[in-house]
Amino acid sequence: MSQQQQQQQEEEIIKPLENSKLFLCGDLCEGSIDKLIRENKIKTYLYLNEDTNKYSPRARIESINAENNAEEEVKVKYRAIPINGENLDTKLANDLQSYMRDEFETPAVIQCSTATRAGIPYLLHVADSMKLTFETVMMIARENNLSLITRPNFVEFLRAQITDNNKTNKSSHVVFRQMFEKESSTYTYLIGCGRTKECVLIDPVLETVERDLECIDELGLTLTMCINTHCHADHITGSGEIKKLRPKCESVISKRAGALGDILIDDGHVIECGESIKLKCLATPGHTNGCMSFVLNDNTDVFTGDALLIRGCGRTDFQGGSSETLYDSVVTGLFARLPDSCKVWPAHDYKGKSMSTIGEEKTNNPRLGMKKTKEEFVQIMSELKLAYPKKIDASLPRNLKCGAE
Ligand code: FE
Repeated sequence: MSQQQQQQQEEEIIKPLENSKLFLCGDLCEGSIDKLIRENKIKTYLYLNEDTNKYSPRARIESINAENNAEEEVKVKYRAIPINGENLDTKLANDLQSYMRDEFETPAVIQCSTATRAGIPYLLHVADSMKLTFETVMMIARENNLSLITRPNFVEFLRAQITDNNKTNKSSHVVFRQMFEKESSTYTYLIGCGRTKECVLIDPVLETVERDLECIDELGLTLTMCINTHCHADHITGSGEIKKLRPKCESVISKRAGALGDILIDDGHVIECGESIKLKCLATPGHTNGCMSFVLNDNTDVFTGDALLIRGCGRTDFQGGSSETLYDSVVTGLFARLPDSCKVWPAHDYKGKSMSTIGEEKTNNPRLGMKKTKEEFVQIMSELKLAYPKKIDASLPRNLKCGAE
């Protein structure tokens, strides 16, 4: 080691937090980057300077990843989101927050030049995940001796973001009910905006229309939409009946379903309800061509229809189903695009389970999780030998017409 390197290493700041699952660091030499990653089995690495900076760890991480390839070790996911005195704005806050929500995974490193700015994404994350006030976040910063607290512009930035978050914290205004129809084991979801009192239903069933509307009325809500995740083969949708009873309510279905609907949606559409609800539409075909999943607000919840069930999935042997397509929809779609913490609400459950999470299904779903390959999944699905659905002949023709007789 040269004298210069030695001196540099002595000045390096590596600040372990959260029982050494997170390291806030300043500039590091290559040897220190290596040691940090290997000894702590680092999964994600966030760098807060431009990649052109001479201390950028990118090249070192790429070569560690290349070396790890042979041993099948986990690769370090690297991202650079520069923070400087000039870009302390909402865009930066959004970039940092979505990184911390969707990509950040411990053990992790957050690196800047002196471990000062590294406190910013960490504190935003703490505030966001535990819904803390700005004052509590500052207490945590002091307890951990984060040097950031001596920098007024960074503290102001945090104050603005954290106060703003609490004001617009959408999740606290979401009204949510899961309701069950026992003959077809279908879940109907009521999602409403607590501020404007508007609500939508996902997958209403003909037999339980009265109950659903009663619930909506009791909560003082107004129904604006009935959304179907797909054209069901096992029950008749309640959408048509509801539209008769509540003429202002519109029906929503994927345009790929080939069914009637007031609003035909496709991948990427966003359904809004009041001020507090945004449902991002994700095409998840495979059970049927027109299957859609709906992601609530900031990836907190996903309504998966029959694409992903708890420890299972919808069948793929009729209605344009395809096991290959379903595998892609779930594994490279839902599993890859949503955080592990995202709650999964399926269209059915036959064993009395009510919900799951993306992380849980990745680990425990015997068909699509547990690192199953596409070939294994196709094989499993081809060997299911399922009976013809009882209600398909009665349901499909009506569901293509939004439930009308
Ligand atoms: Fe289905």
